[in-house]
Amino acid sequence: MPRPKRELIDLHIHVGGAVAPHILWSIAHSQGFKLPVRDYWEFVDLVTASSDKVKSLDDYLKILHTWTEKIQSSPAAIERAIYEIIGKEYRGSGVTRMELRFNPMKRNLGGERDLDHIIQAAIRGMDRAALEYNCRIGLIFCLAREFDAHINEIIVEKAIKYQSWGVVGIDLAGSEEHAMELAPDEMARYSALYARARAAGLKTTVHTGETPGTGAEGVRAVIELLRPHRIGHGVQAAYDENAMKLLVKHKVALEICPSSNLSTHAVADWKEMKHVVRTFIDRGVQITINTDGPYLLGTDMKREFELCEKHGLLNDEEIDRCLATAKDVSFLAGDS
Ligand SMILES: [Zn+2]
Repeated sequence: MPRPKRELIDLHIHVGGAVAPHILWSIAHSQGFKLPVRDYWEFVDLVTASSDKVKSLDDYLKILHTWTEKIQSSPAAIERAIYEIIGKEYRGSGVTRMELRFNPMKRNLGGERDLDHIIQAAIRGMDRAALEYNCRIGLIFCLAREFDAHINEIIVEKAIKYQSWGVVGIDLAGSEEHAMELAPDEMARYSALYARARAAGLKTTVHTGETPGTGAEGVRAVIELLRPHRIGHGVQAAYDENAMKLLVKHKVALEICPSSNLSTHAVADWKEMKHVVRTFIDRGVQITINTDGPYLLGTDMKREFELCEKHGLLNDEEIDRCLATAKDVSFLAGDS
C-alpha cells in the first residue's frame, strides 16, 4: 500500500459504523455472541448498508442499533473496536487526525456493564493506536435524541469527567423524527446541558439538517438554542439563505458526509450533493468532508475526496482548503 498523498482529517466518524466486518465478527465470536447468520458473508451483509436494505436514515440507524453497537458492548470489545478503526484509517487513507464518536450508554447493555469501564477501555484503545501511528485522536460522546434528558445529562457529566483523558466534545445524534419536536421545557434543558458542556471546556456538535424532514429549520433552531461549535451534516441549510447566514455569523462549520447522505437518500444524487457543496462555498459557509461510517457505507476518507473531485464538488485546491478548515475547527487542541 503506497504512502497516501495527503494527511487527512476525519471529524465525523461513528465507532458503530467504522469497524471492519471481520473485526466485528472476531469480537462477536470471542464473546460467544449468538449471531443470526449461517456464515461470515451473511454477517457482512447484516452489518453493511447495501442499497436494497437502506432506504432512509432510520434504516441505516437500525443496523447500528441492532448489531454493531451490541457487539461493541463490553470493555474488551470497545477497546479493540477503537484501536482497529484508528489503525485502519491511518493505513488506508493517511488519516492522522480523527475525532471518533460513540454513545457510551449504547455500549453498556442497558446498565449491565459499568459505564466507567466502557469509557476507560475506549480511551485505552485510542491511546494505544495513537501511540503506534503517531496520530491525534479525540473522543466525542453522542447523546441520543430518543433518550430521556437525565440519561443524556449523565453522558455529559462523564464527558466532563474524562476530558483530561481525551474526551473532547459532545454530539446529539439519533433519528430526526425526535429532532425538534421536543417540548419547550425539554429544549431549555438541552440548551442548559450544552451550556454546561461548553462552560466545562468541551466542544459541541449536533446532528441536524440531514434529511429534508427537519430541513433548514433544524439548523436554525440548533444554532439559536444549542450554540454548537459545529453541525453534523446540515446539508438542508443549502436551501435556506437565513440558515446559511446564521452559520456564517456564528462561525459554525458543517461536517459534510457525502456518501452517507447519498446512502440514506437525504440527498438524491451527486448532482444535488454538488449543488449543496457549491452553494455553501459560494455563501462562505465553512465545510469539512468526513466519512460518518466508513465500513457501514463502504468508503473511507481517501475515497470521499476522490468522489468529491470526480463529481465536481471540489477541486484539488478546495480539498486542501477543506482540510485546513477541518484542522481549524477540530476539537483537538494545538497543532502537533
Ligand atoms: Zn453521523
